[in-house]
Amino acid sequence: MFQIQTLQPTHLPTPLRRRISAASSSALTVPISTTNKNHSIQTLCRKGKLKQAIHLLSNEDNPTQHTYELLIQSCAQKKSLSDAFTVHNNLTEDGFHEDPFLATKLINMYAELGSAPHARKVFDEITDRTIYVWNAIFRALSLLGDGEEVLRLYRRMNSIGMPSDRFTYTYVLKACVVSGSQLPLCGKEVHAQVLRRGYESHLHTMTTLVDMYAKFGCVESARVVFSSMPVKNPVSWSAMIACFAKNARPLEALELFREMMRYDVSPNSVTMVSVIQACAAVSALEQGKLIHGHILRKGFDSILPVMNALVTMYARCGDLELGENVFNQMGKRDVVSWNSMISSYAIHGLGSKALAIFQEMVKLGVSPTPISFISVLGACSHSGLVDEGKLLFESMVKEHGIRPSVEHYACLVDLLGRANRLDEAARVIADMRDEPGPMVWGALLGSCRIHCNVKLAERASRRLFELEPTNAGNYVLLAEIYAEAKMWNEVKRVKKLLEDKGLQKVSGCCWIEAKKRVYSLRSVDELNPQIELIHALVVKLSEEMMEQGYEPETKAVLYELDTEEKQRVLLGHSEKLAVTFGLINCSRGETIRISKNLRLCEDCHSFTKFMSKFADREIMVRDINRFHHFKDGECSCGDYW
Ligand code: ZN
Ligand code: ZN
Repeated sequence: MFQIQTLQPTHLPTPLRRRISAASSSALTVPISTTNKNHSIQTLCRKGKLKQAIHLLSNEDNPTQHTYELLIQSCAQKKSLSDAFTVHNNLTEDGFHEDPFLATKLINMYAELGSAPHARKVFDEITDRTIYVWNAIFRALSLLGDGEEVLRLYRRMNSIGMPSDRFTYTYVLKACVVSGSQLPLCGKEVHAQVLRRGYESHLHTMTTLVDMYAKFGCVESARVVFSSMPVKNPVSWSAMIACFAKNARPLEALELFREMMRYDVSPNSVTMVSVIQACAAVSALEQGKLIHGHILRKGFDSILPVMNALVTMYARCGDLELGENVFNQMGKRDVVSWNSMISSYAIHGLGSKALAIFQEMVKLGVSPTPISFISVLGACSHSGLVDEGKLLFESMVKEHGIRPSVEHYACLVDLLGRANRLDEAARVIADMRDEPGPMVWGALLGSCRIHCNVKLAERASRRLFELEPTNAGNYVLLAEIYAEAKMWNEVKRVKKLLEDKGLQKVSGCCWIEAKKRVYSLRSVDELNPQIELIHALVVKLSEEMMEQGYEPETKAVLYELDTEEKQRVLLGHSEKLAVTFGLINCSRGETIRISKNLRLCEDCHSFTKFMSKFADREIMVRDINRFHHFKDGECSCGDYW
């Protein structure tokens, strides 16, 4: 998204010449041989022969601005920092260090070569700072991740009265994103300046604003900017669609994509990736297939990120086979493609397949990334492959030179904890060299929830409440553990803590696709026109199933109620509403596919298991952890999730 600004060479006063003789010092009498040498150096640069060009430069008395421009470009292309220093030194000796055009090129070169200090040195040394030089340093520093410094320089630029242009805003907005938590201070400040200076119709600046708000999760602000744009291009549409997709608003992403199609705007590959991710988020298999068709027709099938997203989408929509087909037919693959396939097997609980494909990847010489290990360890965890997982964890350092991060430790703790080896999991945490952090403690607390270990849960949550005091999920987990242990006073105490902090439990939400549309269902839902009918049906079906042996699992209810009242609370869970909605709206023989934003509770799990036999329907539910494929009264997770 970074746009490189083009600055035309300037006709500067003749710079100081390095080895120039007194006789030939007149600017008008450049010897023929010099012209030829300049020409030769330029030709060598164009042919990619940088070393030879630099050698010739050392014999050249009068190199021109254009010669240096090409040399700088060559150094950037060749990614050679040592050659860059040689060229830069010669350029300084020749007196070109005060040339704003070449300074801009040098800053861009150092940005490409990843050296912020050298880019900064060029900037600090030049006295004649035109706007181009400022923009170049803004671009370089934000590209190299030093957003804070961009913002400091930007304030200095304002204080000396140097006017900004549209490129300045683009780079500074990018820097706001890089610098992270500064949005209220700088992002909105820059937004206000953009409007004050009348750049609200500048496409690129406004798109960057959408991008910036998207990255900070300010979806409404992004939407306001997007809607206010008088002209939009595929990149701006794409930015807004990505904003919805990345901020857990998949239905709006899909809706905006349909609108984009209605306006006949051609999507780009970034749009395609966002839309595929939105389909994956809500298990919209049919829409995903339509988009796959579009991808093939428009030739996006040669673009790796698009194809990788497709593999993941099919797996997350529950159709692992289609995901495998896409993977198998890919002409080329990168490590992300392999990771997509490994994590696809992982969420389907196919630990052995995940392990096998991981090993195949390694055998083919593709180096696993830290993400590969997170996926394959997750797969072992969900399949109870504890020993295999432990071996893999050890192989990270020994065989692949990857130092385990907290994420990997969280996987290991989860692997051991799920298998009820909680003491071993606690020992892993105690032996960690780094600070364990919320992820690792969270994995331990989650395992304590599964095995109802109050003592360890209390220890884990004490740390978690310190580390992330506003994460409602931790309080809820602890309350659930107390509820299961029937420690009602403790349940009340934790709920009071939650209330006092003004935190709200994340409410359960399910998505289901029926008749080519995606519907969302929540426990309290006034939007779905069928909701009353569905509620009544859930009660009726549950009564009928209870006559045939279904027993509600009331342990997940956080209130001290009698059994009947608890059952009533459980009947309102969004999974049951979604299953029932599917029974009414999906045609017979069609698998009911549901995705859920939280972990499936024990009762919804046994309700759905029972329902698959009772109604003779296959039901797939993807919860936050993995897939559950319900068929004939059984679940593919083997009740291990
Ligand atoms: Zn439930
Ligand atoms: Zn299951």
